[in-house]
Amino acid sequence: MASHMLQHLMLYLSILIGFCLAHQEEFVKCMSKQSSSLHTNTSKYVYSLHSQSYFNLLQPLKHNARWKNSVHQRPKFIVTPTNHHQIKAAIICARAHALQIRVLSGGHDFEGLSYRSRHRFVLIDLVNLRSITINMDDETAWIQVGATLGELYYNIAKKSDTHAFPAGVCPSLGAGGHISGGGMGTLVRKYGLAADNILDAKIMNAKGEILDRELMGEDLFWAIRGGGGASFGIILAWRVQLIRVPSLTTVFTIHKDLDDTGIEVVDKWQKIANKLPNDLFIRILLSNNVEKNTQNKPKFERVAFNSLFLGNAKDLLALMNTNFPELGLQEADCEEMS
Ligand SMILES: Cc1cc2nc3c(=O)[nH]c(=O)nc-3n(C[C@H](O)[C@H](O)[C@H](O)COP(=O)(O)OP(=O)(O)OC[C@H]3O[C@@H](n4cnc5c(N)ncnc54)[C@H](O)[C@@H]3O)c2cc1C
Repeated sequence: MASHMLQHLMLYLSILIGFCLAHQEEFVKCMSKQSSSLHTNTSKYVYSLHSQSYFNLLQPLKHNARWKNSVHQRPKFIVTPTNHHQIKAAIICARAHALQIRVLSGGHDFEGLSYRSRHRFVLIDLVNLRSITINMDDETAWIQVGATLGELYYNIAKKSDTHAFPAGVCPSLGAGGHISGGGMGTLVRKYGLAADNILDAKIMNAKGEILDRELMGEDLFWAIRGGGGASFGIILAWRVQLIRVPSLTTVFTIHKDLDDTGIEVVDKWQKIANKLPNDLFIRILLSNNVEKNTQNKPKFERVAFNSLFLGNAKDLLALMNTNFPELGLQEADCEEMS
């Protein structure tokens, strides 16, 4: 009886494995067919579990603890397109073979939505789409979505020390996910979110058509600037408005213990930070001890006041002494930079 059941199980498993392999082959065949008209070799940008590069490509994502959640499947394929035709091919073949699509730009999604799914899926990793073209005549730039914020800031700085783009703090964030979700950084008080400074975009829809602002219409253009990208299509590039900043800016970080005095300073910060001139941005970062308190909540012990001022140290000190003397900012705390 037991051997009979085992035989059935083995048969079932072999049918299942055969079915999966057939599906896999079909997707690769579909990609090869699409690629042959483009004269490209799929082995250079389509990776299955059998390719070594498959695991290398997933490596950077493993810092997210959600990666370990076994409920979610690993991608059946990872596609790393270098052009729009290859993205279109991936969309067509994924749809033809009932595979979901996940889109990844910088891979910093907290929920891991860019690289996890409960369903069989293809991961389109836009790591190779990262060109940045800056036009100083009209103070704009076209940024492909795989470019990181660090690359964007660096490229702007190479062209000008009086221009910037108001986006997030972490240099490894991807332009694709960051800007489509809003994008907030140290210039937010004066210039708003990254999404507020978008002039145009290119998005690929489910048919593989590329739409710019005019073709997509104002409703969709509004939605992709804050509503999250992946719900609406694959964003390929953003046209952004650069902003003007003074050639000299000042930064500081002051650490304090979260004792009674520290808490009073935080309290004051909460009351005045939004009333200070928009040239001054101050945020706080609470750092928690590994220990937990009795309610098993993180116990914050230190606070860092982290700031960017669009001006020189002298003006910043005058502003702080008038509005926020409790922080005790000294000249030695200030660092001027371009
Ligand atoms: C260390 C760290 C620091 C952070 N700092 C800041 C900060 O300073 N300011 C701030 O505002 N936020 C910050 N965030 C949040 C961050 O902006 C979001 O997590 C953002 O979505 C990351 O974008 P990504 O392209 O790197 O991530 P991804 O994981 O690649 O994508 C995020 C989401 O966008 C979708 N998506 C990605 N690319 C595309 C595309 N081309 N077309 C359509 N959909 C796409 C993905 O499918 C996913 O749903 C931080 C996050 C981390 C982990």
